[in-house]
Amino acid sequence: MLRPYMPAEERPVTQEERLARRAELRADIHRLEVELEGLREAELRLLDGCEHAYADGRSAGAGGQMRICAICGRVLKHRDEKLWG
Ligand SMILES: [Zn+2]
Repeated sequence: MLRPYMPAEERPVTQEERLARRAELRADIHRLEVELEGLREAELRLLDGCEHAYADGRSAGAGGQMRICAICGRVLKHRDEKLWG
């Protein structure tokens, strides 16, 4: 005789199922971590072209040798200011 289907939450979960579920979750976590890494790199590349400026038009970069954007906090690569007139 066939057993009626019982939803997962109504029957005890076996250790085997827990381990299988854990393996699934770990695979998901790993996949998301890889994805997250990719997104962070994309974010950094996007901000590479930071052109934040103060209201008066000056670059929002602050500091000497190491310029840091006052708005997004990104470390800016040294730029030749003459390019901007
Ligand atoms: Zn910025």
